Amino acid sequence: MSDVRRISARWILDSRGNPTVEVDISTDDGIFVGVVPSGASTGSKEALELRDGGSAFHGRGVSKAIDNIKDVIAPRILGMDCTDQRSVDDALLELDPSPMKDGLGANALLAVSLASARAGAASKGIPLYEHLHPGPHRMPVPFMNVINGGAHAGNDLDIQEYMLAPTGFDTYSEAVQAGSEVYHALKTMLKETYGKDAINVGDEGGFAPPISQPECPLELVLEAAEEMGYGGKISLAIDAAASEFADGEDYIIAGKRKSSGDMIDLYKELTGTFPLISLEDPFSEDDWDAFISLTAELGSKVRIIGDDIFVSNPRILKEGIERKAANAVLLKVNQIGTVTEALDAVDMAYGSDFGVMVSHRSGETSDDFIGDLAVSIGSGMIKSGAPARGERTSKYNRMLRIEEVGGIPYGLRE
Ligand code: PEP
Ligand code: MG
Repeated sequence: MSDVRRISARWILDSRGNPTVEVDISTDDGIFVGVVPSGASTGSKEALELRDGGSAFHGRGVSKAIDNIKDVIAPRILGMDCTDQRSVDDALLELDPSPMKDGLGANALLAVSLASARAGAASKGIPLYEHLHPGPHRMPVPFMNVINGGAHAGNDLDIQEYMLAPTGFDTYSEAVQAGSEVYHALKTMLKETYGKDAINVGDEGGFAPPISQPECPLELVLEAAEEMGYGGKISLAIDAAASEFADGEDYIIAGKRKSSGDMIDLYKELTGTFPLISLEDPFSEDDWDAFISLTAELGSKVRIIGDDIFVSNPRILKEGIERKAANAVLLKVNQIGTVTEALDAVDMAYGSDFGVMVSHRSGETSDDFIGDLAVSIGSGMIKSGAPARGERTSKYNRMLRIEEVGGIPYGLRE
């Protein structure tokens, strides 16, 4: 039986050393955990991450969220059947029907939702990736963030993430191996070129070298890939997280003021020069017209991925699909607050030929839930940071274990 017998909640520390919510759900099958990650470059319409304020943990304590789990959520969820994730999540949404989940906090709701999904899978005696979504399942291309900038690093790069995407491989494990090898080749190259300070890492484990020109990391990653003999097999991707360097209607990048039109020219130049296969958040979350223009110009050959603009929210995604503001959505479960709503966003995306990239947050834990989620929905794309640091590799490693089961194809979704 998967009926919830007990719910306990506590704070643990995330990868940035901030407290976050962890929940255990006990059923007759065992104890199942759910842990909530946390972003730094967040979209303004993300569901609320409830923090205590005050002086403890510099205001970032989560004791209110934990109290909400113990006092409000647990009494409602006790006795519920976790194999029916939608009814558990519906019950959570009835407890907090507010659009931003500021009644109980999305961190309170999500921890319970994640733990319930694990309990449901165990009750059915199947792996989490089989339980979450009917698929077809797929081993995703790991988009590895090897050079960090923006809000995730203490350097002068405005673009937040420079990722390598090992697309030219037959299996997931070969792709991870190539990513790891290129990461280390890049480390040697950065040290030789810029000195030892250049191999300090940012929040997601990528290097944070003292460079500022937006194209420079793309040249470096490509050179490292070629040095390892992977020329043509490794594609590139960026997350500009452009809300962070927007200034009014313009953008300040590498010290220069650029209009949305100038930014479009920059992206056209970069995609013409480098094997870039996706551009995430190329503009600020308010700059819908620029998203629409770029998608019209480049959308047939590059994935234009909406993160801060859609915040994994089916309601906002629907508008994005209708207005053709991108052709893919970034999926972060804590932006929306329940597993079911995140899966609804996936189905909505697929129904309109939108791609989906599953994503970690810059503040993470060793929890590997999104590894299962990515395989489950079969979108063919996940980003979990660099192939280094435990909270990043836990997801990549979980998928190495899933791959061993056999029979799940690797690569981007057609
Ligand atoms: C992102 O912007 O895609 C990201 C992972 O960063 P954060 O978690 O800080 O939003
Ligand atoms: Mg992003």
